[in-house]
Amino acid sequence: MDDIIRRSVLNDEKKRTGKDTQLCVHVSQCQEDPFSVVLEKLNSLTLHGHYKCLNVASGKDRKRDYYKFNCIRAGKKSRNSYRAVGCKAYVSFKVLKCWKDHTVIVQRTYDKHDGHDPSDPKDAHFNNISSDLRRKIGELLSLGTKPAILLTKCHKWAKEHGHRDLHNREHFVTPHDIDSVRTCMMRKKHFNCRDSQSVHTLLNGKHQEHVLFYQPYTSDQELMIVLQTPVMKSNMENYAKQLVFVDTTHCVNQYSFPLFTLVVRDDHGRGVPVAYAIVSNESQKTLETVLGIVCEHLPTSSRAFMVDKDFAEINALQKVFPESAILLCWYHVLQAVNRWLSKSESGVHGLSNTQKRNEIISFFCKLKACTSEEDFKATSAEFCQTFKQYPLVCQYFQKHWEGIGHMWCDYGHRFSHARSETNNVIERYDLLF
Ligand SMILES: [Zn+2]
Repeated sequence: MDDIIRRSVLNDEKKRTGKDTQLCVHVSQCQEDPFSVVLEKLNSLTLHGHYKCLNVASGKDRKRDYYKFNCIRAGKKSRNSYRAVGCKAYVSFKVLKCWKDHTVIVQRTYDKHDGHDPSDPKDAHFNNISSDLRRKIGELLSLGTKPAILLTKCHKWAKEHGHRDLHNREHFVTPHDIDSVRTCMMRKKHFNCRDSQSVHTLLNGKHQEHVLFYQPYTSDQELMIVLQTPVMKSNMENYAKQLVFVDTTHCVNQYSFPLFTLVVRDDHGRGVPVAYAIVSNESQKTLETVLGIVCEHLPTSSRAFMVDKDFAEINALQKVFPESAILLCWYHVLQAVNRWLSKSESGVHGLSNTQKRNEIISFFCKLKACTSEEDFKATSAEFCQTFKQYPLVCQYFQKHWEGIGHMWCDYGHRFSHARSETNNVIERYDLLF
């Protein structure tokens, strides 16, 4: 009986089949699930890993009873996709239901691959990552594993699972693949295709209690998100009385919106965050609003804030916390001076002036060590006298550093500030992003 059906269907289907396409008819009992038969046939193909399903996302979509699996290298060649070469090879299955109590599946195979050679081991370079490995990468990413370590772990995983072919991307991934998996994971977390709507849902949802302030981004207002978790709140209550480190970090989100962080030092000397703010610009006005919100939640005004030399930050802090001292991070002072001295506009750049630059830096250290304003004034005068042959250096010093000695020299630091001369605590914290 099976044979009669097979021959009859075969004759009928032959008329609709091209000469290079192989035709095959499978006859099975009606109670068998046609899709499982399809998968079984697909898996029995030697190059099954090379075909991907185009018209059914999963076996759940059975309406059309037609399943077509194209070569994974199918698709239009484009600059963005190096996998697609326009290969036309495919396997298709058409399910003819209930042919005299039998399920009949017509399989068509066109295996003339063009643009690539699936028997070439290097072709496996274009395979999709195996689902097990993809899951493993997902787990590692969610643990915050660094890319280089993740890559090593993936290769170790592949070897442990007996895979040896380094060309096969199914098991041996590249940094680019890891990036793609990360992007996919991030997309799944999105509530909405519009990021602004996604943010809105997120901040008004389960994280609502951690949001101190949220102003959506529109054409006439800046984005401001001020966040504080309960742990941050308790850290702020315990450690923010003396010194708070303030810093702005860039490049932590795809919009390059700055991340504004307030960090304090805990009992163990570690930097712990007490508030985060994501803002769409770093203008003084925006920072004032953000600091004003934080200020409302501070039990007492902090004794001092340590910043790098960002005037928008300094001005905003002075306005919101008029009683607090502003200290400049010594590391950033040295960095700024060094950078300026290396520029041609300083007049002491280049290899031949290395000794002179070192002398200037040593003098800055001497200025830093001044313990009284008088001392600072006298040393400043001495500075200009010593380097009078370099008027540009003297001008630079007078313009940028002389007037704010109290922010970066010891005489302005004469109170307990947890022995902090730099805001390294926060810089170290920022490296975590
Ligand atoms: Zn192909």
